[in-house]
Amino acid sequence: MKKRHSAARIIGGILFTAVFIVFAYISCKVAVHSSDLENCEDTYLYRVYGYDRNRYLRNQGREDELEVDYTVSDETGEVIAIPAAAPAAAVVPEAVPSAEPVPVSEPVPTPDPTPAPTSEPTLAERNAAALGLPAPPDLDINDWQYVLVNGDHPLDPIDYAPANLVYLNMTGDDTDIRTGYDGNRQVVDAMIAQPLIDMTQACKAAGLPIYLSSGYRSYSEQAANFQRINANNGISDGKNNEGHYITMPAGCSEHQTALCCDITDYYHEIKNDAIAQLPTVQWLAEHCADYGFILRFPTDKRDITHVMGESWHFRYVGVEAAKYMTENNLCLEEFVALYT
Ligand SMILES: [Zn+2]
Repeated sequence: MKKRHSAARIIGGILFTAVFIVFAYISCKVAVHSSDLENCEDTYLYRVYGYDRNRYLRNQGREDELEVDYTVSDETGEVIAIPAAAPAAAVVPEAVPSAEPVPVSEPVPTPDPTPAPTSEPTLAERNAAALGLPAPPDLDINDWQYVLVNGDHPLDPIDYAPANLVYLNMTGDDTDIRTGYDGNRQVVDAMIAQPLIDMTQACKAAGLPIYLSSGYRSYSEQAANFQRINANNGISDGKNNEGHYITMPAGCSEHQTALCCDITDYYHEIKNDAIAQLPTVQWLAEHCADYGFILRFPTDKRDITHVMGESWHFRYVGVEAAKYMTENNLCLEEFVALYT
């Protein structure tokens, strides 16, 4: 009797635990799924903290598309939509009836137009001309999207972390675009999320599989990467025997800016030269500038970037700069040098 009693208790305990695990699993899944839906716009953006679509739209000169802004509730942590401020109604001055008819003066013949004085060429224009290049875009090279990070230009501060990161929630059912972080998400700076989504959607629309392999990496994640890749290759400085980086020291990786993403067609454990032959990567190389991205480490620029050819690493610089660099076969180091 005692034996049967304790057996029943054990079975009961197992049943209870099993029911509890199933319940916890379901409620967890539902919670994740529903929070994705709540926070996910039709652009598949998953807002984490402070992603400001309006800021992005203003930056792109698309004020007419401003709709809602978002904030995160201090109390609940929920993402809340705030209607964008309505544009101020244009003030139409009341028509004042003119008291007296204005006398019509004799038309004065306009003198011959004098040609506008040609302005001095800018430093960038002079530098470009000296290299036989067309005039580069008129831009402020100190803007966020042109930041140069490499082995000689570490981030400042070296453990810099972007203020506005977003998860790209692009898994499976809706988009069939896979991402490789945290199972199904990839993290980038909010400012490049929309162009990156546009580019990946276009690639997919061209019938090609696409996989976002690596976006933002923190200083400490890059430090661990650097150590691991060095150990795997029996090196200590991150460089291959030709003196080109195969992994960047922490603080010198573009991934720490969150302005870039490694992209392939699906998960490749080792990213090597063969990746350049993938139709997806070839499509990206051909079209990335239309979305403001450049192939950051072309093989033929290894001696300038000091990084081995990386056919999978795409960096956002804005459409204007990306097109100029691509059309004139310049890497970011060469482009930035035009302005300095
Ligand atoms: Zn990369």
